[in-house]
Amino acid sequence: MLKNPDALPLDRFPAHVRDYLIPRYSGDVVYECIGCGMTAGLDRFLYTCPQCKSLLRLRDRAFDELKKVPGSLWREIFDFRRMLTLEPLRGIFLFKEILFPTIPLEDVVYLGEGHTPLVRANAALSKQVGLEFFVKNDGLNPSASFKDRGMASAISFINYSIRTRGITELLGICASTGDTSAAAALYLSYLDKNIVRSVVLLPQGKVTPQQLSQPLGSGATVIEVPGVFDDCMRIVEELAERYQVCLLNSKNPIRIMGQKSYAYEVAQQLGYDTKHLVVIVPVGNAGNVTAIMEGFLDLYRLDIIPELPCIVAVQSSHANPVAVWRARGEYIPMKVRPSVAQAAMIGDPVSFPKVRWLVEEHFSDRFFAVEVNEQEIIEHMLQANRCGHVVCTQGGESIAGLCKAVASGIVEKNQTVVVDSTSHQLKFANFQDMYFRNAFPPEYEITPRDDLINKPIALPASADAIASFLKLKEK
Ligand SMILES: *Cc1c(COP(=O)(O)O)cnc(C)c1O
Ligand SMILES: [Zn+2]
Repeated sequence: MLKNPDALPLDRFPAHVRDYLIPRYSGDVVYECIGCGMTAGLDRFLYTCPQCKSLLRLRDRAFDELKKVPGSLWREIFDFRRMLTLEPLRGIFLFKEILFPTIPLEDVVYLGEGHTPLVRANAALSKQVGLEFFVKNDGLNPSASFKDRGMASAISFINYSIRTRGITELLGICASTGDTSAAAALYLSYLDKNIVRSVVLLPQGKVTPQQLSQPLGSGATVIEVPGVFDDCMRIVEELAERYQVCLLNSKNPIRIMGQKSYAYEVAQQLGYDTKHLVVIVPVGNAGNVTAIMEGFLDLYRLDIIPELPCIVAVQSSHANPVAVWRARGEYIPMKVRPSVAQAAMIGDPVSFPKVRWLVEEHFSDRFFAVEVNEQEIIEHMLQANRCGHVVCTQGGESIAGLCKAVASGIVEKNQTVVVDSTSHQLKFANFQDMYFRNAFPPEYEITPRDDLINKPIALPASADAIASFLKLKEK
C-alpha cells in the first residue's frame, strides 16, 4: 500500500537534506503525568494518571537527540518535504519527528487534514480592526474544523495499536460541542468496521444541525443527552474510567500531539519568522490553546524559531473561566450561558491544568486572555465574511478578541498577527440565520443591526422585473 519511500526520486533534492526527507527517527515517547511525574509506555490507552488522576501529556524522552540537527536544517527539511509525493507526509505528519515520531509511516491515516491557508485580512477589515492580520482558515479541514488535526494523530495511533497489539474490538467514544464528534466519526469510519465502533455523545439541542448531520452521515452511533457539554464530558469520563473504551476527547494527550501541527504550520507559513508574532485563539475546553503553546515550544527548543509568540486566548462573557482566571488569578469552574461561539461554550475546561502549567513555566509574560460579548462575536463573524473570509462564530470571537487586544494595548501595529478561525462558516449558518431573522432568544443578548442583515428577495421570473429592481442602466 505504502509507496516504497526508497523508490522516491530523492536525488532531485539537495544532498544535505536528502537523508532526512523520509523521517526515520521514532523517539522514545511516553505518557507523563503533569501532577506526580509518573511515566507509562504507549502500549495502552491512558487519559489520566492511574496514581493521582491528573492529566497526562506525551513526552519524547529522546527529544534532545533532535538538537543534533541545527534549526536551520530542520527548516529546510520541513520545507523540502512538502515537495515529496509521499502520502503519510502530506498532512500533519510532515512534522513527524516533533509531532508524534512513534507512529510508523505505514499506520498514518491521512484524510486531507492540515496545511490550511493563511489568508491576509482584506483592507476594509484590517482598517476596522486597526491593524493588518492573517486569518488561518482551519475550517478547510476535511470535517471543517481544526479537530481533524488531533483526530488524525489519535486515529493513526489507534490504527498502529490495532496492528501491533492485535486488538480485535475497539469502541471509540467522545463527548462533543459538535466538531469533535464530526471529526471522530469521520476518522473512525475510515478504519475496519469489523474491529472499530464509533459512538458520540452530544448535548441535546446544543449542536448545530450541520454538526449533528456529520456523525450521523459517517455512520456513528449518536447519543443525545439532556444538559450541556460539561455534562456529556462527565459521562464519557466515567465510561472511560470503568469500561474498555477509547476516549477521543482532547483529554486524550494523543489528540494534543496532532493539534500541535497548527503551530508548526503557522511558523512555516511565515518563513519561521516568529519575532513579534501574536496568535489569537478561541478557548473552550482549552485543548487547542494547549497544543498551540506546546507546538511553538517544540520549535523554539530546536532553534527552528527565534522567539515564542504571544498567545491571546479569547472567551465569550457567557463562558469565561480562563479569562476570569487570568484577570483575577483564581480558577473557578462556572455554569455557562448560551453562546453563538457554541463550540467553545465550556464552563470547566478539561485542559485548564495544562494551560496553567504552560503559562507558569513558559508563557508567563506572553499569555493574555480577553473576554468579548455575544453581540461582538456574531458581528465580527458577519463582517469578516462580508470581506472575503469564511469564518465561523469562534473565528468571529477571535477577531472580536483581537479588537479588544488592540484597544487595550496588548497587541500593537508592529506585530504579526494570526487569528485562528477554528471551523467553517457553514457549520454555524443557523446563528447567521437567527441574526438575519432577529430570532435570538433573549438569553443570547443579541440585537441585530439593520446594515448587517441580508435576506433573499423574491421577484418574478422576468429580466425586466430584475433589471427594474436593480435599477440597471440600458446599454
Ligand atoms: C472545539 C472547538 C473550539 C474550542 O477548542 P478547545 O480545544 O475546546 O478549546 C473552538 N472552535 C471550534 C470550531 C471548535 O470545534
Ligand atoms: Zn500522577
